[in-house]
Amino acid sequence: MDFETLCVHGSSKKYDTTGAICVPIFTSATFAHPSVGESTGFDYSRTQNPTRENLEHTVASLEGGCGAIAFSSGMAATSALMELFSIGNHVVSFDDLYGGSYRLFEQISAKNGISFTYANTAEGIAAAIKPNTKAIFIETPTNPMMQVIDIAAITKTAQQHGLLVIVDNTFLTPYFQKPLELGADIVLHSGTKYLGGHNDALAGLLVAKDPNIYEQLKTIAKTTGAILSPFESYLITRGIKTLAVRLERQQETAKTIANWLTEQKKITAVHYIGLPNHAGHEITRKQSSGYGGMISFTVCDEKTAIKILEQVKVIQYAESLGGVESLITYPALQTHADMPENERLSRGINEKLLRLSVGLESATDLIADLKQAME
Ligand SMILES: *Cc1c(COP(=O)(O)O)cnc(C)c1O
Repeated sequence: MDFETLCVHGSSKKYDTTGAICVPIFTSATFAHPSVGESTGFDYSRTQNPTRENLEHTVASLEGGCGAIAFSSGMAATSALMELFSIGNHVVSFDDLYGGSYRLFEQISAKNGISFTYANTAEGIAAAIKPNTKAIFIETPTNPMMQVIDIAAITKTAQQHGLLVIVDNTFLTPYFQKPLELGADIVLHSGTKYLGGHNDALAGLLVAKDPNIYEQLKTIAKTTGAILSPFESYLITRGIKTLAVRLERQQETAKTIANWLTEQKKITAVHYIGLPNHAGHEITRKQSSGYGGMISFTVCDEKTAIKILEQVKVIQYAESLGGVESLITYPALQTHADMPENERLSRGINEKLLRLSVGLESATDLIADLKQAME
């Protein structure tokens, strides 16, 4: 089945006999047993719930995994993932990373005895591997600098050392990029972003390629308990139905805006992977089928950055991304505020950098909005 069809129809499993087109929101915390030693397949909603299972089956098929698990947020999914590791284990990651992932690694996982090295090239990642390394955790394109990492090159390195490859696929989604097909073992999503797509629900997902890893993650999820509620599961499933059309339009508008930004005097750099002069453009063409709707850009000075944030009217100054409403973010003060200043600045996340998540408003209105905010 084609991706668009899978988005709309999701999992074909039926959970009731009414002919309902949409899987209902099963609000039951628990499920009655037909007889002793028998189960309907559902026992208790922390372990599994029909509405959540429907979402998980849908996302697993979109990513080409053997199973998926839905969590209460992207960070809940990442914390559950870290439970795969034990004291003394080491993980190699990339130095441009979602701020919350970095904070989790440094403030929580480190305290639990897991250590991290942050590299900034594929070669750097290979060089950082130690005897106690268990996994490589990457995000591509990266947040907020939009750097592209060659997933196939990373998985090749990982295979030589028997390491797991985990890819945060939040920015491009399986519509544009399928890390499991490129050799990754686990895909992570903040379902809050493009999968949900409407800025109205938080969610996280882990998708595994291999049944053993899926079973391990499933045990962690039901044991630690940060699973997604039936209502949020319904919202994310509903969002996914329009994933393909939303992303096509968001990408088209993002290309138009990125091109316009490159022509503006007050803009000194535009980081959009769809621009042919972007350093990651060629790798993106190789490993992805599109460029998505995220742009970051640098303005001439801090004053202009603040002016844009305060004067946009259609675009809203808010954290998050991937929804139908366009949002502009100030990474230095928002997503990456908890990163030590020298780390942050060395990554280019300075007071002049803005990140734009292009929504579904018209390109004309968005450009007019940016224009008036800059003047
Ligand atoms: C938002 C985000 C997360 C965290 O997800 P939440 O749903 O906010 O917990 C992780 N990775 C990336 C790339 C994100 O954008």
